[in-house]
Order: sequence, then C-alpha cells, then structure tokens
Amino acid sequence: MSRIAYVNGAYLPMDTAFIHIEDRANQFADAVYEVVTVYNGRFIDMDAHIDRLERSLNELHIQMPMARSAMMVVLAETARKNRATNAILYIQVSRGIVKRDHAFPVAARPCLTVTCRRFDFAAVKARAEKGIKTITTPDIRWGRCDIKSTSLLPNVLAKQAAKEQGAAEAIMLDEAGNITEGSSTNVWMVTKDGVLVTRSIDDNILPGITRAAVMTIARDFQIKIEERAFSLAEAQNAAEMFLTSSTNCAMPIIMVDTKKIGDGKPGSTTKRIVDAYWSMMEKA
Ligand code: PMP
Repeated sequence: MSRIAYVNGAYLPMDTAFIHIEDRANQFADAVYEVVTVYNGRFIDMDAHIDRLERSLNELHIQMPMARSAMMVVLAETARKNRATNAILYIQVSRGIVKRDHAFPVAARPCLTVTCRRFDFAAVKARAEKGIKTITTPDIRWGRCDIKSTSLLPNVLAKQAAKEQGAAEAIMLDEAGNITEGSSTNVWMVTKDGVLVTRSIDDNILPGITRAAVMTIARDFQIKIEERAFSLAEAQNAAEMFLTSSTNCAMPIIMVDTKKIGDGKPGSTTKRIVDAYWSMMEKA
C-alpha cells in the first residue's frame, strides 16, 4: 500500500505529494513541525503536541492553518488512510507560498502538510534494555530552540557526527560547558543521591512533551526533581543518565564520549521511568 500524505487540503500518494518551490519552508525554513507517535492505534499526547504547535506558530506570528478541531480530523484521517497502528505522524506548518522576500508576507496562507510512516516501537523497547552510546558536540544552534522550527541543520550535523562515531545521539553543550539537550531529545541525569536533574525550560531547549510526561511519572514516584543547568562533567559522574523524546520514549544512556555512565548499564531509577513510560503508552 502506498503511503498517503496530506498537502494543503488533499490526500495524495507520497510520490505525487509536493510542496511549492516558493513555500517559505523551502526557502527560509519559515515553518514549524511536530512529531506525534501512534502506538497500538492511539495518538500519544496529541493535545500536548498541538498545544506546542500553536505556541511555536504564535511565537512566529503564523496563523494556525485551520481550526484545531479540523486539524484533529486531518490527522486522524491521515493516520487512517495509512492504516497507522504503530507509526509516526509528521506535521508541518509553514508561513505559506509567496514570492521570495525575507520579511513576513502580508497575505500568505499557512500551509499544512502531514506525513505518516510505520514505526518499530519493539526496536525502541529492545534498545532501551541495553541503553545507548552518545557523543557530545558544541551547541551551535540559534537562540530560540524553544520554537520547534524546521531549521534543523545544526541538529542534522550533530546526529551525523554521532552516527559516524558509532553513537545513537549527540548531546549538545553550551558555551559554559552545560548540557542543553540532544539533537532531537531532552537529556537527564540521576545523581548519586537519587535526584533527577534536567535542564529547566528556557530558550536553549525544546520543551519536550516526553519530558513533561516523565516529570509527571517522577512526581508520582516521589523522586526528587531539580530543573537546572548541569555540566558535562557532572553528568558523566552521575549515577545514571537517560534521554527522552516521542520516538525514543525514555532511553538509558550508558556512555557519553569515552566515559561510561554508572556501571555502563541502564540504572535502576532510569529503568523504573522507562517501564512507567511504556505502561503509560499501553494505557493511552
Ligand atoms: N529536543 C529536540 C531538539 C527535539 O527535536 C525533540 C524531538 N522533537 C525533543 C527535544 C523531544 O521532544 P518530544 O519529547 O516532544 O518528542
């Protein structure tokens, strides 16, 4: 079965689904996006993703392309047409199609595109049993990483560097040597005293939907949480580390550059959180 994409009002086979050459997503990355998982046929945290989409659009003074309820219909229909049971929905909104000129056009209508592809959650679960290796790289992104912008070239370069070094993710460091986040993930550590630490929400990180879900899980477990900056050295000497994102769920980190984290295996607090996140998915 061919994959079906939604492009500005039409459901099209993937190989005929195109955006206009003067779509501002193409020429300026003047667009934002969301990635929502579908697990056992159910959207995970859809409302939170659409809230964040609205926020990103608002920060850029782009209108929602349609009412939220209508967008929900489009997303459900795209998933249905693709027979999405375990899948990823990619949602992109650009400022619109207009003659190239840097400043905001007056009359552009936002463009909505949605694609869907199958996703192997079992592989993610299997990876979480062992944990992953990561590398570090300077965070060379812009100053508004809280906006889920499609200008992802620094993230692409970071992920490629990780791949070339046999690692699954690149952890980015700010000028002070503190961890901002991964190229497509939020980063956490568990201190030797059992405190869960992650960077507080600021302009340097994306407010992850999975981050928020893990906060709730940790609160339920009465784990002490600190939202603050932490350095690479502190993280490498922590008891445990993990990362979060919609497609990684909660994923243990067992190595950062050449330094093993803890005993080089997923830690016990991390495992509790990983398991709780998967249970939350089962119940979604
Ligand atoms: N940070 C960045 C830079 C990301 O691209 C992502 C993935 N969208 C995340 C964090 C994690 O966000 P979420 O939990 O909403 O998938």
